[in-house]
Amino acid sequence: MDSQTISLVRTTFKAVAAVDDGPERLTSSFYSILFTDYPEARDFFPAAMETQRDRLVRALAYVVDRLEDPDNLLPFLAQLGRDHRKYGTTAEHYTAVGVSLLKALQNFAGHEIWTDDVDRAWNEALGVVASTMIGAADADENPAVWGGTVIEHRNVLRNLAVVRLQLNEPMDYRAGQYVSVQVPSRPRMWRYMSPANPPNKDGIIEFHIRGVTGGWVSPSMVSHTRIGEQWLLGAPLGALGIPANPARDLVMIGCGTGIAPLRAQVLELAEWTTSRRVHLFVGGHHPCDLYDLELLWELSLDNPWLTVTPVTENEDNPWWHVDDYSNAPAGMSTRLTGQIGKVVASLGSWEDRDIQIAGAPSMIQTTKFRLMAGGTPVQNIRHDPLY
Ligand SMILES: Cc1cc2nc3c(=O)[nH]c(=O)nc-3n(C[C@H](O)[C@H](O)[C@H](O)COP(=O)(O)OP(=O)(O)OC[C@H]3O[C@@H](n4cnc5c(N)ncnc54)[C@H](O)[C@@H]3O)c2cc1C
Repeated sequence: MDSQTISLVRTTFKAVAAVDDGPERLTSSFYSILFTDYPEARDFFPAAMETQRDRLVRALAYVVDRLEDPDNLLPFLAQLGRDHRKYGTTAEHYTAVGVSLLKALQNFAGHEIWTDDVDRAWNEALGVVASTMIGAADADENPAVWGGTVIEHRNVLRNLAVVRLQLNEPMDYRAGQYVSVQVPSRPRMWRYMSPANPPNKDGIIEFHIRGVTGGWVSPSMVSHTRIGEQWLLGAPLGALGIPANPARDLVMIGCGTGIAPLRAQVLELAEWTTSRRVHLFVGGHHPCDLYDLELLWELSLDNPWLTVTPVTENEDNPWWHVDDYSNAPAGMSTRLTGQIGKVVASLGSWEDRDIQIAGAPSMIQTTKFRLMAGGTPVQNIRHDPLY
């Protein structure tokens, strides 16, 4: 795509996003066109569309922001194409979505903005998106979807569960990647989850799940999962993982269930002989939010390359907290107190390290900002997309 095409797409999208309620109106218009012109498409979406609506605009914004960066955008779209095989998506569905989106954008922008050149630019951009996704999906020889039987469900905190599944066939993901998951109580409501263990020939996969208050899916996963039930998993996604350069030391910063993709990498490194140092910061609001420290501590005892430092925003547990299962095991690095990005940045600029951040989007953004303000080069910092 040339720079003029990219600029036309970006300008139109910004014009839509800048209008009050623009993104919401664009999405509503898109789905009403899609479901009117292609009624069969409705079956692919959940009954409740709220989260879905947010996703479309965020995904579009993500793509539009990266049109000048094909080296990152194309692999991302290819992964998304492979992931979409779980819906049974075909080339006709991509056409239906592309045509509906163009109509919605055109209606929204009006004749003055939607010139022939803009129309051509959007056709080209959506063509690249669709052909990359379809090409990757067609070339993929892995299953479209993996089935997994729940073999363990443990509540490790009040609203956080560890769930282990036996996959019907092993999945070749990279430690650090994430997958979309569908549970039987919430059909068609796929949610991303990061495996907390590396891939293994036994096909056991572990998820750490926090129940988000008011969420459609996660509270059910935490409270109503039953041993023996069948979950479905889509293809692995994401660019986090152990960097190929073995000379590069690593800093990993995870809050809450954000430790899952980092833990998977640490467990994988522990299976190899590694000389690179890894400093893992494990964060939470209160000491009682930390979990899994025992295992991480034992790993750091067996593997001198690993340092694990707990960090909490508050020194003490909230007044209503009565259990005492959250203290770091004796002998582990002293817990530090403060906002995790600020704490890590105060320990150095980490210029020579590969840095990964995982957790809630707001935590990722704040931590990245703190590190950059402390002198960490932005190209050293990696994280998953913030949606
Ligand atoms: C790359 C990636 C990896 C992920 N890995 C994991 C994982 O390993 N374990 C895990 O538990 N979750 C993980 N998530 C989050 C997960 O995909 C869901 O977003 C989360 O479980 C909420 O789903 P829900 O259906 O309960 O809430 P929804 O019904 O989707 O949302 C309900 C409301 O809660 C808000 N919300 C959604 N997520 C959060 C959040 N984390 N904190 C605060 N508010 C939120 C939404 O904006 C919305 O307003 C990951 C997300 C991404 C993008």
